[in-house]
Amino acid sequence: MTIETTENRPFEADVSRLLHMMVHSVYSDRDVFLRELVSNAADACEKLRYEAIASPDLLGDDPTLAITIAADPEANTLAIADNGIGMSRDEMIEALGTIARSGTRGFMDRVAEAEGQDGARQGAQLIGQFGVGFYSAFMVALRVEVVSRRAGASEAWAWTSDGKGAYSVAPVALEDAPVRGTRVLLHLTDDAKSYAERWTLERIVKEQSGHVPVPITLIEKPG
Ligand code: ADP
Ligand code: MG
Repeated sequence: MTIETTENRPFEADVSRLLHMMVHSVYSDRDVFLRELVSNAADACEKLRYEAIASPDLLGDDPTLAITIAADPEANTLAIADNGIGMSRDEMIEALGTIARSGTRGFMDRVAEAEGQDGARQGAQLIGQFGVGFYSAFMVALRVEVVSRRAGASEAWAWTSDGKGAYSVAPVALEDAPVRGTRVLLHLTDDAKSYAERWTLERIVKEQSGHVPVPITLIEKPG
């Protein structure tokens, strides 16, 4: 017997608006998506470090926090993984389906103000000014898959979306998930192929993520 457990959920209306802007924006500095995903990975490691002060067990037998960027030019994919705090199902739905966070909220408020003026150009400037977090992945990806296992949890969850109004959440087998933390897999668009190449990634990481307090390893699958 197979039980269908995949849940399809619409994005909050503001997320759909934001995603539409990200995809259609004239904003040209798409490199920033990597800074956002690496900073989320580093934040997740910092959160685990903090929670582990009170609950050292959360670190299990894997106390070395790390970020891995894995590119596969043949498949045209890029994965950013961390062994930080991870997300439960409810945390995923809250964090990746709504605009609860202050930075993005401020961004959307400013976009609303700018509307009616020169919308597209204003929006582009605002993207640069605010940094729009996780959703910036959709500037370079057709589809984003997030698999996460929260520290200490015995279940793992997958979130996936093409950024067009809805996402799905489903449980995943533990062997298909990180032992702990989060893996964000981007299926890159054809015009973003360079983000699956080692030298591009090396350059961007050096430029944008030099001060991240967690070691970053870059892997390129031989094409
Ligand atoms: P911000 O980082 O400003 O909160 P983001 O859009 O970058 O906003 O990320 C939204 C939320 O998604 C984060 O606050 C966090 O709760 C969650 N999140 C994103 N990436 C990760 C990750 N790698 N590990 C754990 N949680 C994450
Ligand atoms: Mg962030």
